[in-house]
Amino acid sequence: MIKTAFTPFKDKLTAPLTKKQITVLQINLGKRCNLSCNHCHVEASPKRTEEMTPEICEQLIELIHRFPEIKIVDLTGGAPEMNYGFKLLVEAANKNGNQVIVRSNLTIYFEDGFGDLPEYFAKHQVRVVASLPCYLQDNVDKMRGHGVFQESIKALRSLNELGYAQNPNLILDLVYNPQLPTSEKFSLTPDQGKLERDYKMFLQEHFNIVFNNLFTITNLPVGRTKFHLERTKLYAPYLQFLEANFNPNTLEHLMCRDELSIDYLGNVYDCDFNQMMNLPVKTREGEILTVTKLLEADSLDLIDEVQTAAYCYGCTAGCGSSCGGALV
Ligand code: SF4
Ligand code: SF4
Repeated sequence: MIKTAFTPFKDKLTAPLTKKQITVLQINLGKRCNLSCNHCHVEASPKRTEEMTPEICEQLIELIHRFPEIKIVDLTGGAPEMNYGFKLLVEAANKNGNQVIVRSNLTIYFEDGFGDLPEYFAKHQVRVVASLPCYLQDNVDKMRGHGVFQESIKALRSLNELGYAQNPNLILDLVYNPQLPTSEKFSLTPDQGKLERDYKMFLQEHFNIVFNNLFTITNLPVGRTKFHLERTKLYAPYLQFLEANFNPNTLEHLMCRDELSIDYLGNVYDCDFNQMMNLPVKTREGEILTVTKLLEADSLDLIDEVQTAAYCYGCTAGCGSSCGGALV
């Protein structure tokens, strides 16, 4: 038997990771993005063409209307705003009384044809969760591309001018990702509360920007982060580091417990990371679960156990990590 450098994640579990009631529908509208960040787990870029078709979009609208247990519709990508179905999904979820989240890179507002987005978000009370991996320009531009920091600042100012982070119905959250490691001196994400205070102080003082919450998200060894770790021969050491910081208290709160993640083809996953690593949910009969099958079964409750893999150590290390930040 080949001995791996870290314990299989499954062996860390004392009980199966079961699914709870589904309350979050996270939809990945495709891999097209105006940026191509070096840590992107989706491997998104302007060259990618994969995106949701009108048929899948229609099925998802039906799903949103049919299942009242869905409370949150979380739209991601790529840059989800670039997909033709984006506004249709926002409006369907809005009409249904769901909270709508857009995972926005902020710079998309400066591309041709997308200048109306801030006003559109405000009108539909879309919760904006925006990446800003650091409050320092150099670090952001190194990870995301030259000029991204200044455009992000400009975008945050427009959102503030529309009432974001001031009107209680207009929520603006920021996301912090650590820089990619370049040596075995790994560290966990900093304390979320303290970092949020530092971000707030810096952005207010230097740019007069306000926001609601900061989410710290661990880099999972998936997509471009995985390639980087493999290239620098840090993949196994990084997983060992994450395993050494495994915190069983995070298991109860993992985002995969109460969400369904859908890809642009309508396949169902436990989370966006499983989606990128091509680990779809299987039905009890062993077939890939799809939105069509959920509609046919008239139920979201078709999954017994979450599918896990080595990168799950990223969500369970230290204070834990999810699309909503730290877990405990
Ligand atoms: S991290 Fe976000 S903004 Fe950057 S390439 Fe990926 S999807 Fe686009
Ligand atoms: S990667 Fe994280 S969210 Fe996805 S299945 Fe593993 S623990 Fe759950």
